[in-house]
Amino acid sequence: MFGSPGYLEKSDPEVYGLIAREENRQQNVLEMIASENHTSPAVLAAAGSCLTNKYAEGLPGKRYYGGCEQVDQIETLAIQRCKDLFGCDHVNVQPHSGAQANMAVYFASLQAGDTALAMDLAHGGHLSHGFKINFSGKLYNFVSYGVKEDTQTIDYDQVNALAKAHKPKLIVCGASAYPRKIDFDKLAEIAHSNGAKILADIAHVAGLVCTGLHPDPIPVCDYVTSTTHKTLRGPRGGITMCKDENTRAINSAVFPGMQGGPLCHIVAAKAVAFGEALKPEFKTYMEQVLKNCNALAEELVSKGFSLCSGGSDNHLILLDLRPYDANLTGAQAEDLLGLGGIVVNKNLLPFDTRKAMDASGVRIGTPALTTRGLKEDHMRQIANWIDKLLSSQGDQKVISQVRSETQELCQQFPLPA
Ligand SMILES: *Cc1c(COP(=O)(O)O)cnc(C)c1O
Repeated sequence: MFGSPGYLEKSDPEVYGLIAREENRQQNVLEMIASENHTSPAVLAAAGSCLTNKYAEGLPGKRYYGGCEQVDQIETLAIQRCKDLFGCDHVNVQPHSGAQANMAVYFASLQAGDTALAMDLAHGGHLSHGFKINFSGKLYNFVSYGVKEDTQTIDYDQVNALAKAHKPKLIVCGASAYPRKIDFDKLAEIAHSNGAKILADIAHVAGLVCTGLHPDPIPVCDYVTSTTHKTLRGPRGGITMCKDENTRAINSAVFPGMQGGPLCHIVAAKAVAFGEALKPEFKTYMEQVLKNCNALAEELVSKGFSLCSGGSDNHLILLDLRPYDANLTGAQAEDLLGLGGIVVNKNLLPFDTRKAMDASGVRIGTPALTTRGLKEDHMRQIANWIDKLLSSQGDQKVISQVRSETQELCQQFPLPA
């Protein structure tokens, strides 16, 4: 019934072989890229289903194509489950990705050339928050705020001062590489008292928000966007939530404003993921993500590493490599850890003096490994390996010793099946 790997193997061994190798890679590395996760087989089944064949421009009950009986029910289910999960007034589940979810809000709330305020990329923001060569930076006049140099936490006074000075129509908050809680109440108050609307982009922390483990932007923010594939552990995609009064503007920004037909197979997979996230087990999972991140952070600090902002209260940490080894770049650290079977990404630090391709930091997250069942003791072991690899100076013996140990741990904790 669903997409059959056996069939692909026969009909296109070349593509099949590459996918099989990727599955093997995922099975045999410790995936610690903070934005990645391992979906359930149920999410994969929906994403690989015949729904990819269906056109359904429009919304349930108001389509521009026939034959939408099933996809109407599927999208309605995805919408209802998402509302139950986040308690939002309205959601559009069609954005193809997180960047598209943000685009919908910009199209609904701004005109080309309008001013908006968002977090600087080097301070943890995202490309779609006004980066110069991203559509957001090209179409709108984005001004950026950042973190304080001493605490490396968001400078709320600066946000307020910039809002007074630049009179933005929209303030964007939410981040890709920020290890601390974000005070949505305070940011919403700043936005509204300065005549601006506010968008909270919870692409990273959505799983924590819907389980009550992170402050909730839904009651106070005009718009809330998210990806569905990070902590939320669904298929690659986006969602745009809003207050009732913005429903029409958001829906028409998504279609026909910026997209054609929805990806019906992905909408179905989103419904499956929302269903999973509504179960009590998902909260237990997210709690373990936090416990694991804490254990990892503490052990790294005890090994002499510095963490941006001194620690973490979410699913990720930002390792500041400079005090540990002034000559080691984020790029070199990413390579060394990769050779040992630990997959991470280099990351700019706030006020970094290196370029983005080198960077002085590494971002490390625990969502994917927690899905595989790893616990605090494993995190302490991983901190040990990180220390060994980053102090190895590329010594092959050290690297291959660690590689065989990480491989063994991977074998003990198979991907969800
Ligand atoms: C990941 C991320 C996005 C974009 O997601 P894509 O699906 O890659 O487009 C948007 N905003 C933030 C804060 C993110 O971390």
